[in-house]
Amino acid sequence: MDAFARAAEGAPEHCPACGGGVVLDPPDAAADGPCPHCGNLLWFVRKCSDGAVVLTFLPGLMAGEEAMDKVDQVRAAAASADRLVLNLSHMRFISSMFLGMLVVMHRELLAANRTARLCGLHADAMEVFRVNQLERLFEIHEDERAALSSF
Ligand SMILES: [Zn+2]
Repeated sequence: MDAFARAAEGAPEHCPACGGGVVLDPPDAAADGPCPHCGNLLWFVRKCSDGAVVLTFLPGLMAGEEAMDKVDQVRAAAASADRLVLNLSHMRFISSMFLGMLVVMHRELLAANRTARLCGLHADAMEVFRVNQLERLFEIHEDERAALSSF
């Protein structure tokens, strides 16, 4: 199996565990893979863009006993960001664990007077958001560029 996340110097996307640059290859990768630097499973990558932090989620399953570790990783990666964009364009399936994480993040951001935007939701994901009334909690934009320019 080819690791889709190639190591790359100066890449905009970074492994949240070790900070090494990674390339999403192909850009619409359908599976997560190990970080080429530290070997940790990459289920999201982090980049800074125009003073905002963008977390791009990969389709790693948010389930099981590792889920709480994953949530903590996301909260840590988002902690310093005044402007936060969560890019869900790689996710075809939105688990209840993932939704729960978003609700927790929403509360924390609100308490810190910070803000987040979501972008790249597929139609199925959008429906899940509607059913769970999450579209009221987050401003949702079509793509990353629109989300970044909305701050
Ligand atoms: Zn790494």
